Amino acid sequence: MNTMTSIQPGERIRLPARRGVAIRLERGQILTLINTHGQQVVDTWAFNPDDLREAMSMEHSRPFWLKLNPRQGDSLVTNQRRKILTLTEDTTPGVHDTLVAACDPTRYRQLGVVGHHDSCNENLFLALDALGLAVTETPSPLNLFMNVPVYQDGRIEFAAPVSEAGQYVRLKAEMDVIVVLSACPQDITAVNGMSPQDVHYSIS
Ligand SMILES: [Zn+2]
Repeated sequence: MNTMTSIQPGERIRLPARRGVAIRLERGQILTLINTHGQQVVDTWAFNPDDLREAMSMEHSRPFWLKLNPRQGDSLVTNQRRKILTLTEDTTPGVHDTLVAACDPTRYRQLGVVGHHDSCNENLFLALDALGLAVTETPSPLNLFMNVPVYQDGRIEFAAPVSEAGQYVRLKAEMDVIVVLSACPQDITAVNGMSPQDVHYSIS
């Protein structure tokens, strides 16, 4: 189910395996995202509610940090180079990914899947549609908990997450924002430990 729900502060909400959700945050609010079972990647997007063309951008954030991935205390910026979210707390080992595009129907076809397969790209569109919103392009997501090792010779690899059950990240809204989360349904490669799981989130 991709719905906008009325959320009480601190209430722990389940994001079912393979599904997405769009969440409105006011500036200063904090989204806590719990990797309930460990090893579940969550593709994450953030948009300016007044102009969805302004979105959290990995290619603008990496030069802002001068590193590949955010660590605790780092802010993510938009394609207008404005702060949109800050990773205020991270109890995982800090392994996330900013390099890899969201999974989509074509990706699964190329991996040999016949017929429909849930995807993060579809979850993004469905989650926004539940708010009556749409985007025409899919920004590169912040792939929370995703483990894509980068080697000295430039090779990358898809590996199982190193986060453990119950570990979490906290993202503070630096402006009014729509955050979209997708519990990645990838079960062909190892990115979710081969077994997509529920995660949980809360807002304070
Ligand atoms: Zn995915």
